[in-house]
Amino acid sequence: MHELALARSVVKIVEDEAAARAVAGVKKIVLEIGALSCVDPRALEFSFDAVASGTIAAGASLEIETPPGQARCFSCEAEVEIAARGAACPECGSHQLFVIGGDDMVVRSLEVH
Ligand SMILES: [Zn+2]
Repeated sequence: MHELALARSVVKIVEDEAAARAVAGVKKIVLEIGALSCVDPRALEFSFDAVASGTIAAGASLEIETPPGQARCFSCEAEVEIAARGAACPECGSHQLFVIGGDDMVVRSLEVH
């Protein structure tokens, strides 16, 4: 239940932010979930609804953006976008890629009441 843990951390971030800004409620939470993060956005939404219940984040909608994975190629040293781990370098076809982005989850912004 990777997504459940992530949902808990999203709610925690939102609660801290809401407390710091003294807001009454949260309307929308914009999340970035990198294409290489292995997070299932639907499972995360489902977990979020359960975890947010009874908190200031309850009823907030989630907007999920999925930025592409970014990697650096060991062979040709290009920085490239990849759709999945294990993809080949689009520049030279090498599989020697080192992931440098698009593999994590970030709370981008909050829309509050
Ligand atoms: Zn390459």
